[in-house]
Amino acid sequence: MTATVQEVLQFVKENDVKFIRLAFCDLLGRAKNISIMPDELPEAFENGISFDAHAINGFTDITNSDLFLVPDPTTLSVLPWRPQQGRVVRFYCNIKNPDGSVFWGDTRSILRSVLRRGEQMGFSCMVGAECEFYLFKTDDTGEPTTIPFDQGGYLDVAPLDKGENVRREICLCLEEMGIKPESSHHEQGPGQNEIDFKFSDGLSCADNLVTFKQVVKSIAARNGLFASFSPKPLPDRSGSGLHINLSLARNGFNVFRSSEKKDLKEAESFIAGILLKTPEMTAFLNPLPSSYERLGAFEAPKYVSWSPGNRSQLVRIPVATGDKMRMELRSPDPATNPYLAFALVISAGLYGIEYGLPLPDSLNVDLYRADESVTDSLERLPDSLEEALKLAAESEFVRDTLGEKVVERYIQLKQQELQELNRAVNKREHFLEHY
Ligand code: GLU
Ligand code: MG
Ligand code: MG
Repeated sequence: MTATVQEVLQFVKENDVKFIRLAFCDLLGRAKNISIMPDELPEAFENGISFDAHAINGFTDITNSDLFLVPDPTTLSVLPWRPQQGRVVRFYCNIKNPDGSVFWGDTRSILRSVLRRGEQMGFSCMVGAECEFYLFKTDDTGEPTTIPFDQGGYLDVAPLDKGENVRREICLCLEEMGIKPESSHHEQGPGQNEIDFKFSDGLSCADNLVTFKQVVKSIAARNGLFASFSPKPLPDRSGSGLHINLSLARNGFNVFRSSEKKDLKEAESFIAGILLKTPEMTAFLNPLPSSYERLGAFEAPKYVSWSPGNRSQLVRIPVATGDKMRMELRSPDPATNPYLAFALVISAGLYGIEYGLPLPDSLNVDLYRADESVTDSLERLPDSLEEALKLAAESEFVRDTLGEKVVERYIQLKQQELQELNRAVNKREHFLEHY
C-alpha cells in the first residue's frame, strides 16, 4: 500500500486500530517488533520510537544503547491473524541514531542504497523470491518436532498432501495483506511446501518475504503445526531453498526480454557479476552450518556455473515470456537476511555491468552425474560455514556493499553461533525454533 503519513493517521483513526507494530530485522534477519498505541504514532513519524539496541544481538554496546524506529508509511499492513476488533497494523521501519542519521546496522537501508545505485545506472531491480518450507508436527506441549506433517512428495494431492488447507489459508492471508500469491504446491520432501508470490521492486520483495515467513509461521501455529525455514531440517531429504529471481527494468522495460544487443550485453554482465561474486557472499546467502548440507543435492547447486533449463546449476534462465523473463539464483536459502542477501546479489550484478564482465559459457550437463573431468574444472561454492565466513571476511566487495561494521559483527555473531552449536547436544534441532 502506498500511503502518506496523513493517510496513515487517517486509516488508523477510521479502522479501529488499537496496536501498531514497529518492525525491523536484526543482522541475522530475525524479525523483531515493538508495539505502540495509536496516540504515539505521530511522534513515531516525527522523531522515532526508542528501543534498547544493546539487547539486539550485534547492534550496539551498552554505552550507546538508544536507537529509534521510524515507520515507513508505505509499508502499512493490517495483520489479518490478529483480532479484527481493536486491529493490529504493522510498519517496517528505518532505524535511526539519536542524531537522526541512519544506523549502520539497518539492513533495510543498506538494500535501499544498493537499489539507489541501480537507479543511478538507469535500472530498477525487480526481485521474485521462491521460498520453500517444512510443516512439522508439534508435541503434546506444543513444542516443535521434526516429524513431517505428511508423507507427500512433489505436486502430490490429498490425502497424501495434508498441507492444502494450510497453504489455502496462507494464500488468502497474503492476499488480504496486499501480497499477491501466484502458485502453491507440495514440494519434494515429506511435509515440504512452497508458495510463490508476485515479484516486485527489491525492497518490497524483501519486506514481503519477512511478512511471508511470519504469515506461514502464524498460520501453521494456528493449525497446531510448526513451520521451519531451516535449509536442511531432515538429513537425506530435500532441503529448503530460497531461489532469488532477478530482472532489470530500464524505463519500465525489462532488459531481460529485449532483443537489443546493448540490453542483452548488460543482462549478461549482470549475471556474470553474480556468478563471480557468489562464493564470497555465500556466508550471507547460506547462513547456517546446515545450509552446507543442502548444497550439492536435491536440486541445490554446488558449483559456480549457469545454464538455461538446468536445475543442477547455480544460475538458471527459466523459460518465461514478457516481464517474467529473468535469471534465477538457486543457492540462497530461507534462513538468510533477505535485505542483506538482495543487497549483495544486486550489487554483484551491478558490478558486472559497471565492469562490462563477459558471461562465461553455459554448461548444460547434469552436475549430480557429471564425472570429475567436468566438475574439477569448476569453482565450488564453499563447503562449510567456516570456509564461507573466511571468504566473506577477505572480500572487499562484501565490505564495500554492506559496510565494514556489518561484516565484522555478522561474522562475530556467526562464530558465536558455531561455538554454541559445538556445545549443543542435539545439533540438528539446535536452530530449529529460530528458523
Ligand atoms: N528444494 C530445492 C532446493 O533446495 C529446489 C527445488 C526446486 O527447484 O524447486 O533448492
Ligand atoms: Mg521449489
Ligand atoms: Mg525456482
